[in-house]
Amino acid sequence: MLKQNYVLHESYIEKYAYDNDFQDVYASLRQGNQIEELDYHVHNSLLYQLGKLCIPQREKNNIIREVHTSLIVGHFGVGKTIENLQRYCYWPRTFDSVSRFIRGCYLCETSKPINMKLGLYTPLLVPSLPCESILMDFVGGLPLSRKGHDYLYVVVDRFSKMCILKPCKKKLQLKKTAHLSFQNIWVHFGLPTSIVSDQDSRFFGNFFVKFVGHDGN
Ligand SMILES: [Zn+2]
Repeated sequence: MLKQNYVLHESYIEKYAYDNDFQDVYASLRQGNQIEELDYHVHNSLLYQLGKLCIPQREKNNIIREVHTSLIVGHFGVGKTIENLQRYCYWPRTFDSVSRFIRGCYLCETSKPINMKLGLYTPLLVPSLPCESILMDFVGGLPLSRKGHDYLYVVVDRFSKMCILKPCKKKLQLKKTAHLSFQNIWVHFGLPTSIVSDQDSRFFGNFFVKFVGHDGN
């Protein structure tokens, strides 16, 4: 929680002199002039408004960050951040600067449920025929074989549980994956209706481009 600390805020003193929000009122008060804004006073050279420390513009973001980023609760929303700020601090148009800061907070932006690209888990359809649906994956981290293979290309028919294993290399190129698939699966069993794999959609997009254009080389 933000605490008032004279030493910590000593640097504000010179910043008030150039601050668009406070330079006039601060200068007037330091000169002992009567000013219209009676809500302000200076204490230990720091400016206060109704007992709240006035924050120069160049310090606003540091203060918002301190209040918004709570180690215990996490990142407060706009309302709670302003509420905590206004216990000790003051500057005009607090809402604007706080909401702008939070809109730009990377952690808030990426962790809001609405911004998380969550996919729905859908159950896999049960295949009714052999080779209608296959699982395709790579199992790796295996001891290097004499031919330099360290991965297994695994294909399982979800209907019969028949499993085909082919040794391959970790850096198997897409073209070779398509070649393996063509030689070992599709020439015998045809094209399945569905393929289940952990590989991302970009892999499959490129994979099918290679596969459809397969010329047996
Ligand atoms: Zn945040």
